[in-house]
Amino acid sequence: MATKSLKATGNELAQNNRQLEILNGGIFADGELPYFKDKIDQIGQFPLRPKKLEILQINVGYMCNQVCEHCHVDAGPDRKEIMTRETMQQCLEVIKNTGAHTLDLTGGAPEMNPDFRWFVEEAAKAGIKDFIVRSNLTIIRANKKYHDLPDFFKKHNVHVISSMPHWTRGKTDKQRGDGVFDKSIKALQELNERGYGMPDSDLRLDLVYNPSGAYLPGDQAAMEKDFKKALKEDFGIQFHNLFAITNLPIARFLDYLIASENYEDYMYALVEAYNPVAVTNVMCRNTISVSWDGWLYDCDFNQMLDLKVASKIKHIKDYNEDILNDRNIIISQHCYGCTAGAGSSCQGTVA
Ligand code: SF4
Ligand code: SF4
Repeated sequence: MATKSLKATGNELAQNNRQLEILNGGIFADGELPYFKDKIDQIGQFPLRPKKLEILQINVGYMCNQVCEHCHVDAGPDRKEIMTRETMQQCLEVIKNTGAHTLDLTGGAPEMNPDFRWFVEEAAKAGIKDFIVRSNLTIIRANKKYHDLPDFFKKHNVHVISSMPHWTRGKTDKQRGDGVFDKSIKALQELNERGYGMPDSDLRLDLVYNPSGAYLPGDQAAMEKDFKKALKEDFGIQFHNLFAITNLPIARFLDYLIASENYEDYMYALVEAYNPVAVTNVMCRNTISVSWDGWLYDCDFNQMLDLKVASKIKHIKDYNEDILNDRNIIISQHCYGCTAGAGSSCQGTVA
């Protein structure tokens, strides 16, 4: 299990250009597999265009208490990119005026940003309909100063979405690190005690599943049933929905695919599972992603490849929703991860 990010170890995949070279070259450049652009052109979806903006996703920093094997952010304790209060202020101006109904805070572990609580308190005042915080759960148990997070989340009626790769200790710890399962279970129980995840509760608690290896997720509804049964029977835990997410071939998952000699097979599997219906609902069509330093992207994946929006508005300080909505979305071969099978987005399947 890695203890450092690709960036800290000087791995060449920490460079966005190197990742893009891989995604645009090899089996795609020599014509074995079609470029994503050509595939969506066949259904009249190229260039890919936004629909109405619904979700503002803000990444408040790449620091994390974990170093998960599949992480598309290449997050870890050694990452120092953290959103400043000044950039948060610029985000708050946008949050107050946006037409988006969902605010989605992500990271790294967003709670590790020293201004996280201030930002949540201020953002909650804007009264956005659905205010999501993506919490990795273990952060709640990582240090005493985080133990009251379940109460803090409840106070601000935050919708908690958390990763939980499996209902067994072995599979979870293999992907996310030793001890992650036990801490996650404890954190989920604490959230349940506050009312999170209970059948009739407004305190939303959803879990995210992503595969541990070079394969696509199974059926979301069937998995949700299995997760619910196992977590309830074994630990008395309840939650609302399970989102099944496909691992995209970038950052640490790309490193894993290459190191395990699965890269080509995985790309074949993604292309084979291409579902044109999913293209209509890929999340970049209703989302804007903001990086820790205020740059704007079509999605969190493009952010990690530093593919900024193709618009004259590129930074949160200049934000203009109408101008931004009139742009072409930047795509590459990693996009096949969003259109495989039932599709994949930060909120699960899309088709
Ligand atoms: S997957 Fe999530 S919890 Fe794991 S290292 Fe990345 S940001 Fe942290
Ligand atoms: S990776 Fe991003 S840009 Fe590509 S289809 Fe998915 S959401 Fe859209």
